[in-house]
Amino acid sequence: MRRTRYARAMQHATRRLHSAELLAIGTELTVGETVDTNSGDLARACVALGVHVTRVANLPDDLDVVVDAMRTALTRADLVITTGGLGPTPDDLTREAVAAVCGEDVVVHPDTLAWLEGIWARRGQPFPSVNVKQAWVIPSATVLPNHNGTAPGWWVDRPDGRVIVTLPGPPREMRPMWTDGVVPLLHARGVGADLDVRTLRLTGIGESQLAEILGDAILRRPNPVVATYARRDAVDVRISARADAARGAAELADAAEAELLGQLGVYVWARGATTWAEALDAALATRGWTVGMVECGTGGALVGLLGTLSSLRRAEVLAERPGTGDAALMAEAERVRAAADASVGLAVAIRAAGSDTDVDVAIVTPDGSRVEHRLAFLRGRHGADRAALAGAAVLLEILRA
Ligand code: AMP
Ligand code: MG
Repeated sequence: MRRTRYARAMQHATRRLHSAELLAIGTELTVGETVDTNSGDLARACVALGVHVTRVANLPDDLDVVVDAMRTALTRADLVITTGGLGPTPDDLTREAVAAVCGEDVVVHPDTLAWLEGIWARRGQPFPSVNVKQAWVIPSATVLPNHNGTAPGWWVDRPDGRVIVTLPGPPREMRPMWTDGVVPLLHARGVGADLDVRTLRLTGIGESQLAEILGDAILRRPNPVVATYARRDAVDVRISARADAARGAAELADAAEAELLGQLGVYVWARGATTWAEALDAALATRGWTVGMVECGTGGALVGLLGTLSSLRRAEVLAERPGTGDAALMAEAERVRAAADASVGLAVAIRAAGSDTDVDVAIVTPDGSRVEHRLAFLRGRHGADRAALAGAAVLLEILRA
């Protein structure tokens, strides 16, 4: 008995967690009422850690279906991650499914029960008996605390070194539990140790032009892998380096990044998952400047992109541009700056140009003023969204000059 346990422990320590299958559980997903965003979030997070996601599935709240999917997934992948089905109601069956797959019985975890009872006690309400199941645990599970809800997750070590992780369905509970609860345990198992992933965010260049500049030699190199992604707000270049016999992952990534910056530096506006609002806020904070903005004909696209700027003092959405010509737009930028009592005035206006969109950007700052013209691909919503990006890009360029 003791020997077996030792052997199991050794397997835990030695099995590398290379592959993962993601199971999103909930009938709301399989009837199309809720879109499964958890799997995409987790897939990106796994890939960033160097874990290969081999399958993603959406499953209904059906015990047999979930048990079957978990069992099969455990024959293929090192890591099986579920989201959903951790609620207190009878249709939430993930705990029952894991217990069945592991052949273990659930017991109440006293600390978790005390924590749950405390939540209701704080509100002066009696603890509902249905919620007791949220305090369940099986012997091979470690409880993952939930600081944003009442559904703790589980990290379950299987005897063969594989791992099952259960996470709650609501994204605002799932994401912090992944980051604070699961990632440290994955690191402890060596996941991500030999990997370095970086993203350069580019603007003012299309994916095909980018591919031409990079060339096949870079884009097909096995390590570091360099890949391009056309996103809504940027073209991203992702560098993912794995340590080899000679060099560490960071060293390889540094070399690749320096090479890419040499070719593409002028297009790079941010790194990682930085948003336009974050990049602009940082640049505005450096100068201690605030912003007022007005958009004409873009239907709120600029507010959608930059509405969360902490340096924003006022944002106006006009159906049409007031007058034509650069002087009229600059007058708008100056007017909104004054109305906002801000340091910077930004005005963006669009006009259809065939199947594309003409974009005019006027910016006035304490240092001077500038008008820029850009052509945005497509019309309507697409053109308006790209016009907003052009406005953000021109502003960032001025702030960083
Ligand atoms: P549950 O943990 O199954 O009780 O899920 C609670 C809620 O989380 C659901 O009603 C959905 O609103 C949300 N949810 C569950 N699964 C997902 C998912 N895969 N992606 C996004 N939201 C989800
Ligand atoms: Mg559910």
